[in-house]
Amino acid sequence: MKRRTFMAAPPAIALGAAASTPLSALAAPAVLTPDTRLLPRHAKGPRIVVCGGGWGGLTAARYLRQWVPNADVVVLERNPTFWSGPMSNKWLVDIVNTDFVHHDMSHAANKYGYRLIQTEVSGFDRAKRIVRTAHGQLDYDYLILAGGIRDNFEGWLGEDREAIAYTSQRFNSAYIPNARMLALKSRVKNFKRGTLVMTLPPPPHRCPPSPYERACLIAWHIKKNKIPGKIVILDPKPKIGPIGEGYRQAFEELYPEIITHVPNAGVKSLDPYKKRIVTAAGEYDFDEAILMPQHQAADMVWHAGLIGKTEQGKPTGWADMDPRFYTARSDDRVYFVGDLMGAISPQFGYYPKSGHVANAIGKIVARNISERVAGKEVVARLPDNLCYMMVNGDPQEEIAVKFEYEVDKASGHVHQTQVDIDVRTTEMVKEDFAWIKGRFDDFLF
Ligand SMILES: Cc1cc2nc3c(=O)[nH]c(=O)nc-3n(C[C@H](O)[C@H](O)[C@H](O)COP(=O)(O)OP(=O)(O)OC[C@H]3O[C@@H](n4cnc5c(N)ncnc54)[C@H](O)[C@@H]3O)c2cc1C
Repeated sequence: MKRRTFMAAPPAIALGAAASTPLSALAAPAVLTPDTRLLPRHAKGPRIVVCGGGWGGLTAARYLRQWVPNADVVVLERNPTFWSGPMSNKWLVDIVNTDFVHHDMSHAANKYGYRLIQTEVSGFDRAKRIVRTAHGQLDYDYLILAGGIRDNFEGWLGEDREAIAYTSQRFNSAYIPNARMLALKSRVKNFKRGTLVMTLPPPPHRCPPSPYERACLIAWHIKKNKIPGKIVILDPKPKIGPIGEGYRQAFEELYPEIITHVPNAGVKSLDPYKKRIVTAAGEYDFDEAILMPQHQAADMVWHAGLIGKTEQGKPTGWADMDPRFYTARSDDRVYFVGDLMGAISPQFGYYPKSGHVANAIGKIVARNISERVAGKEVVARLPDNLCYMMVNGDPQEEIAVKFEYEVDKASGHVHQTQVDIDVRTTEMVKEDFAWIKGRFDDFLF
């Protein structure tokens, strides 16, 4: 075995229900390589491999076990524990503690009876229905891609790998769940004076209202601790949105000395070492920054060769999928769940890339697969969306946005209705905490 292969592959940790793997399955080679066959089958039903154990993947796994009881459901997840994006802005400024956003995943695997393996998904052989991981291969009957997003720093920094690594390490926005969330929290705590710049990506991006929530809560922390600091939000959009009016009022009424929102400020270039950023709306020097480049579908969709193309033949950056059934257009054994999903409708483009939608689609895809396995007609189903955003820490006050979807009979396209709730209230805080409890109870606890 090549030394590099060995070095690249930390031990695979089989968590949760994998503990009940029969002894025959343990007769595997002593050292795992990317060519090792992982987890021989022991269920009579189909094997469904879920790549990514976040909001969407864990929901799909839970409901697949419920609705396709004879299926062998395997979740492949690179992180050892679950970090939630929702509520993480509140955690950054100590409104909720770490136990609120950080959870053990093996509990849900044991409770619902799917197998959870900590490993990196590295590629696919779709013709043979095989997933490749850092620790071996798995075959599948149905594949669910639920890997969330990736940061496209190349869009700013080209092929300068050193500058990309430096920017990603030093100014990461922690919009992808991992230990960078901890690093961001200590950067916020260590911000003692000067200008903090936040860049927003161009749409579509993960949880559209949440960067503004983050700005409000860091501004609240700055105000509370009398830190001589300012926040400059560099927004590529012409105006704030969603919940634009609610955020505008929060910026002006609660943080007039702290937050400056700059519209039409798409990033043109960045010098992370000199801490300077050039945008379409001017140049900015910063002391600290939370830099969010363009978001794209996670690497796994690119590895699977399932990224959509524009009419000009360029990659859309998101999965190429049937908007009614969430399957890949070129391979109906592959389903997409969560933020990596592609365009849905000419009216609004993409579903909001939210935990609420990932949870809803996880359930819908599990239902669709159950109908398919049972030989029934698969019914097209639509999600809804709901996002609560805290804008004030004392008193705690929130605003919200709701989205509803229906199929427009005339055009056959999905139609979106958006309702912004711009008036900040303490009641909405209660609704938010009830919402997150409901979601976590659904797929995690
Ligand atoms: C600050 C912030 C606030 C937010 N607030 C809200 C909110 O209030 N309401 C709301 O609904 N949404 C909110 N969101 C959005 C929400 O977090 C995401 O929309 C949701 O997590 C999407 O679910 P997902 O399953 O697609 O992706 P994720 O939850 O990110 O899960 C993807 C999983 O795939 C794993 N993975 C990726 N690639 C690989 C690989 N190659 N091998 C193995 N594993 C892999 C990742 O480690 C991850 O665990 C917020 C997000 C952030 C960052």
